[in-house]
Amino acid sequence: MFHSTNPNPSKLALVPFVSVDNMMKIVNTIGASKVIAEIAEYIEADFLRWDMFDKTPRVAAHSKEGVIELMPTSDGETYGFKYVNGHPANMARGFQTVNAFGVLARVDNGYPVLVSEMTILTALRTAATSAVAAKHLAPKNARIMGMIGNGAQCEFQALAFQQIVGIDTVKLFDIDSKATQKAARNLSDSGLTVISCKTAEEAVAGTQIITTCTADKQNATVLTDNMIGSGIHINAIGGDCPGKTELHRDILLRSDIFVEYPPQTRVEGEIQQLDDDHPVTELWQVMTGQTQGRTSDNQITLFDSVGFATEDFSALRYIHDQLQPTGHFVELDLLADPDDPRDLFGMVQRAKTNSSSN
Ligand code: NAD
Repeated sequence: MFHSTNPNPSKLALVPFVSVDNMMKIVNTIGASKVIAEIAEYIEADFLRWDMFDKTPRVAAHSKEGVIELMPTSDGETYGFKYVNGHPANMARGFQTVNAFGVLARVDNGYPVLVSEMTILTALRTAATSAVAAKHLAPKNARIMGMIGNGAQCEFQALAFQQIVGIDTVKLFDIDSKATQKAARNLSDSGLTVISCKTAEEAVAGTQIITTCTADKQNATVLTDNMIGSGIHINAIGGDCPGKTELHRDILLRSDIFVEYPPQTRVEGEIQQLDDDHPVTELWQVMTGQTQGRTSDNQITLFDSVGFATEDFSALRYIHDQLQPTGHFVELDLLADPDDPRDLFGMVQRAKTNSSSN
């Protein structure tokens, strides 16, 4: 159960708010890699109590430019949701492809206990989820990852796989060489060996893990079947919307496919290209040991990631736990809180009197 972080008990209705500025302070105080590893622990802990969560596919409003989504969940004590968009054409217009903010609230009285930016937090939690999945699915001793798509998510993914999976080398490719240069520059003091590549084929050669995180509102073919050797783990995060996929269908047919929540992934993920009854394994089943993840050296494993509400819930839970230790938040006057709960109108009237007498 979350309690107010407010030191002034007469102002219980103030809600902690983590702005973009304060999120960056939290990340820089703790360190990006450590934050990702700690969020990964929260994500894994919540996957282990999967049954406790209210689960529903996210509510999506599609347009020809992109999508705006609401992602709600609750564990019975705490409720959370994220607002997130995905607009692939935004980057060319100077906007982020993905923007987000989110809320945690107490189930017992409905009062929010946290409002937070989630654009940075989404990148952190997506990377953490990818790496947690890879910990169970990638070949043991995987050291080299190919990264196709070097936009906003890229460096977070690279750091997560370094920290949690133990990769030491990342091979970058993007159709826009400026994106690759940006990512290589940002990762230059990460301790990773960074290799910039001129083609996707070059970026995947000799790797044990391939991450695809491109943004294009179409059924793209970022990877073709001939690029995928046996034993590879594919972490496919960019195909996350109806009509927006990254992998050739033949790759899916050769892979063992792992997903977050099938009712959402069948609509949004790479598996929208397959029949509705194509077998997939849920990640929580692997984490709890109910099912095995990787079972052989030759197996191609595919994490068909679309992003699920519980991961945002876990990330918000983590940020809530960092409020007191870091102090990086402000308080929002978000909730009307009359002394007599029924006297909402009177509170408005008294505010008028107070402001005219000032
Ligand atoms: P971004 O726009 O910042 O970066 C995307 C990059 O992909 C760009 O640099 C672009 O040049 C490159 N690209 C496009 N087509 C390509 C191709 N065919 N080959 C190589 N590079 C190509 O976007 P982002 O914020 O990094 O997000 C990447 C993708 O991940 C988006 O599709 C987004 O919707 C998705 N995403 C998924 C999750 C999840 O949980 N699964 C979470 C966040 C974002």
